[in-house]
Amino acid sequence: MEPVIERISVKTNVLNANQQTALANRELFHKEGLLVMNLMSAPGAGKTTLLEATICALQGKLRVAVIEGDLQTDLDAQRIEALGVRAFQITTGTVCHLDARMISRALESFPISDLDLLVIENVGNLICPSSFDLGESLRVVVCSVAEGPEKPKKYPVMFNKADLVLINKVDLAEPSGADLQELMNNVAEVSPNATILALSARTGEGMPPWINWLQYAVDSHASSSRMLNVSL
Ligand code: MG
Ligand code: ZN
Repeated sequence: MEPVIERISVKTNVLNANQQTALANRELFHKEGLLVMNLMSAPGAGKTTLLEATICALQGKLRVAVIEGDLQTDLDAQRIEALGVRAFQITTGTVCHLDARMISRALESFPISDLDLLVIENVGNLICPSSFDLGESLRVVVCSVAEGPEKPKKYPVMFNKADLVLINKVDLAEPSGADLQELMNNVAEVSPNATILALSARTGEGMPPWINWLQYAVDSHASSSRMLNVSL
């Protein structure tokens, strides 16, 4: 029995320590009036392609920067920087999620004071990233139709904590024989409070509602941060 209890308490301590740092990160983001999004998905769901299309759509409207989390390589950060947007690559080595301290360390050399939106692209993984608060205000989960309709049921914790679930690659539904409606029903079942949008970052289909949602989230967050900072 004892080793099991020890393991549980180690895990609890790790998450408590993470929560302290996440709170400090969140306070800093609020002070800056900055909306921070934690973008999560399984590997290959299309997070970086979605970010590229999103950055292009937001050009001249919002000031955006990206923190990329990957086990190895800075390939994703290079793709973002190629669009003229500031990007910071965190390589985690063997760690399969980002934690709050990795973000707070990145912020030591990554300026955020001139931004409206900071996107943190988490390591591709539908399991533990959901347990690590980074200090974000929004959690967005991407799920591609090509992954099959059962992902939300198999990884309910990830989907349950999402503010928005984006169904990506809708252009592949027909050619791959995937059931888009069944996937949307499963998302709605495990994420009753999340907004659900379907799109294809590659073809641009369904992008405008996502861009509008984001713009609205940034605007309302900025005004609530102003009120919070005044009352402090
Ligand atoms: Mg990526
Ligand atoms: Zn992990």
